[in-house]
Amino acid sequence: MHFLIQKEKGWKATLKPNDEHTFKVKIVKLILAKSTDEAIELLSNYYNVSAPHLKVGMPRQVGKKGACYVSGTKTIHVRNRDKLEDPFIILHEFYHHLRTHGGKHRGTERHANAFAQGFVEAFQTSANYSFRVTRGQGE
Ligand SMILES: [Zn+2]
Repeated sequence: MHFLIQKEKGWKATLKPNDEHTFKVKIVKLILAKSTDEAIELLSNYYNVSAPHLKVGMPRQVGKKGACYVSGTKTIHVRNRDKLEDPFIILHEFYHHLRTHGGKHRGTERHANAFAQGFVEAFQTSANYSFRVTRGQGE
């Protein structure tokens, strides 16, 4: 617990308005609020790439995965609508879009997971922080 508080102080000290952390929190909130299109739009602007397409329904020969990115069509496919509200999945697939140049698929699964995790952790940090604030004194 003590460690957590120190970590949050560290975040606060290095934060500026509209910085990367704030951006990440916003993206995760948008996806959770089912505004995935808007999140993709903002991400694409932020990283200065064209926005990928979003499609519910998987291409053939993909097996049981919940989502995938097809570089040829620049499309993020998700198996069902629920997956559109999953920040980890959307951000993981967006990373593949980001790392795809000239049709070549670059970037590893590990990197895609780390990219998505960075956003989710930013959101969790801010969620913890506001939770502590609304709880007021007592802990
Ligand atoms: Zn992947």
